[in-house]
Amino acid sequence: MLTLHGAGIGKGITIGTAVVLQGPTMDIPEYMVSDDEIESEIARFQNAIQAARSQLSSIRDHIPSNAPSESAMFIEAHLLMMDDPLIALEPLETIRNEHVNAESALQRHAESLVRAFEEMEDPYLRDKKTDINQVVNRIQQNLLNVDQEDIDGIEEGLAGKIVITTDLAPADTVLLKHHKMSAFVTDLGGPISHTAILARSLKIPAIVGLHGATRYIRHGETLIVDGKRGTVILSPDQEVLDAYHDRYGKNLHIQQELEALRTSEAVTRDGQPIQLMANIELPEDIEATQRAYADGVGLYRTEYLFMNRQEPPTEAEQFSAYKQVVTALKKPITIRTLDLGADKQVDGGRPNLDTTTNPALGLRAVRLCLHEPGLFKPQLRAILRASAFGPIEMMIPMVSSLDELGQVLDLIEEIKQELRKQGHAYDEHIPIGGMIEVPAAAIAADLFASRLNFLSIGTNDLIQYTLAIDRVDDAVNYLYDPLHPSVLRLIKMTIDAGNRAGVPVAMCGEMAGESRYTKLLLGLGLRNFSMEPDSLLEIKKVIRETDLTTLSDFIREILTCADPNELRMLVEKLDS
Ligand code: PEP
Ligand code: MG
Repeated sequence: MLTLHGAGIGKGITIGTAVVLQGPTMDIPEYMVSDDEIESEIARFQNAIQAARSQLSSIRDHIPSNAPSESAMFIEAHLLMMDDPLIALEPLETIRNEHVNAESALQRHAESLVRAFEEMEDPYLRDKKTDINQVVNRIQQNLLNVDQEDIDGIEEGLAGKIVITTDLAPADTVLLKHHKMSAFVTDLGGPISHTAILARSLKIPAIVGLHGATRYIRHGETLIVDGKRGTVILSPDQEVLDAYHDRYGKNLHIQQELEALRTSEAVTRDGQPIQLMANIELPEDIEATQRAYADGVGLYRTEYLFMNRQEPPTEAEQFSAYKQVVTALKKPITIRTLDLGADKQVDGGRPNLDTTTNPALGLRAVRLCLHEPGLFKPQLRAILRASAFGPIEMMIPMVSSLDELGQVLDLIEEIKQELRKQGHAYDEHIPIGGMIEVPAAAIAADLFASRLNFLSIGTNDLIQYTLAIDRVDDAVNYLYDPLHPSVLRLIKMTIDAGNRAGVPVAMCGEMAGESRYTKLLLGLGLRNFSMEPDSLLEIKKVIRETDLTTLSDFIREILTCADPNELRMLVEKLDS
C-alpha cells in the first residue's frame, strides 16, 4: 500500500481499478527534405493541422448537452491556437527555408513558444504552456499517424475506471467523461489549469500534478482517489478499503439526507433565518442556483465573460448576459465588477501582463478598472442598465482605499447621469457594496460601511493578504489558514462594524461554503453566506442543527485562544 499526493480536484472519493494510458511516446524525427520534396512536406503539415482541427471539432460537436459551457470553450481555445501563426504558419517558413521535415519544424516553434510561457511570472499564463503542448501533440500525432491518444480506442473498457495518464487535454477530459470514467490522475497540470476547472464542473474527482503517477501506478491496480485530500492510495489493504467504503457509503447516505432539505428553510433551531446565496461564473450557472433553492446570487464573477477571447465583451454583450441572469432567477443578483489581474489573467481584458514582480499587489481588480476606464465604463453601464430588469446589486472587488472607493462612486453617479440623458432605464437606488478582502478594508470596515450599502468578505484574498501567502503558490499553501487568529479577528471586526453601521455583511469566499466553519461563522455573527451552489445543502443542514444561543462561550474561547492546535480542536468540537 502506498499513498501519493497531488493537487486534489473536487470533493469526491472514487474506488476503482486503474487504466494507465501511457499516451503514445513520440520520438520526433528530424531529417532534411530536398527541394522537390518541400511542397509535399508543406502539404503533409497542412493536412495534419486540418485533421487535428476536424478531430477537435468532432469532439466539440459530441459534447453531451448537459456538460458545462466551459467544455466547449476550452476546445474552442485549442482550435484557436491551431490558427495561431506561430503554430500554423511559421513552421511552413522553416520547412521552406531550412529544408527540414514538418515534425521538427513544428517542434522547434512549439519549444520556443513553451519556453516563453514557462518564463512568465504569472501562474495562469504559465499554465497555458500545457495547452500549447496538448495542441502540438495532437498535430504531431497526425503527422506521425500515431493512434489518437490511445483514448479513442478504449471507449468500451472505461466505464467506472480511473484513468492514469501523463496529461489530459480539456477535449480528452470531455471524451473520457462521455465514456463514464470515474476519476483521473495526471503526472502534470496544476489546480487552476483548464483541465482542472473542467473536472470540477464536470464533477469528476481528480488528482493533477501527481508527478510519477504513470510510473508508480500499474494497469489494473486497485486505487482510492480522494479528491478532497488530494491523495491516491495504491493497492489499499482491506482495513483501509473498508474504511473508505464506509466513508463512501456515508457520503451517499449524507447526499440522500441533504436532498430532503432542498426546499426547507435555512433557519437556526432558535429561529434565526440565514440567507444562503450562490457564487456563479457564467449565466448558465443560474440553473444550479435554482436547483439549490438559493436566495439569490451573492457573487457573480464577471471575469469569465472576458476569458478565451481576443477583445473584451461590448457593453451590449455584457448587458445581455446580466439581464439574462436577473430575468431568469428573479432573485437578488450581486454582480461583481471586473476582478482581473494577478491569478485571473485573460486575453480579452488586456490586464497587467507586464507586471512581473508582484501581480497580487499590483494593478488588479478595481485598481485596474480605474486605470482603464475603457474597460470599466462599459461594464458599469451594462450593470446599471440591467438593473432596470430585476434586483441587481453591484459589488466592487478589492477595495483598499477610501479615495479609490470615492472615485468609483463618483464614476457610477456620472454614468447614471449619462444614462438618464440618453433615456436608458436603470435602478436609481441600486445597492453598491464592497468586497472586504484586503486587511486595510477589514480594519477600517466602519469607514467603508459608511459609504456603502453592503459588505462582502472575500476570505480567499483576505487570507492571502493577511498571512502574506500567494494563494496560487504551492510552496506556501500549507500556511493558508482560515483559522489563523488574525483572520478570525478581521472577520469579526468586519461583521461588528457592519452591524454597528446597520450595513449587511455577507461572506463569499470559499470559507463560507465549508461546513466545518459554519457554526464558527454563525457564532461570529455572519447571517449571509454565498458559495458554489453544490455546497449549499450541506451548509443548510448545519444551520438547521445550530442553536445560536449555545455558541457565545465557544466563540469567546476561540477568539482568545493562543494555541493553534487547541483552537483547531475547539472549532472541531463546535462542529461535532
Ligand atoms: C475571495 O477573494 O474570497 C473571492 C470570493 O474572490 P475571488 O476568489 O474571485 O478572488
Ligand atoms: Mg477575491
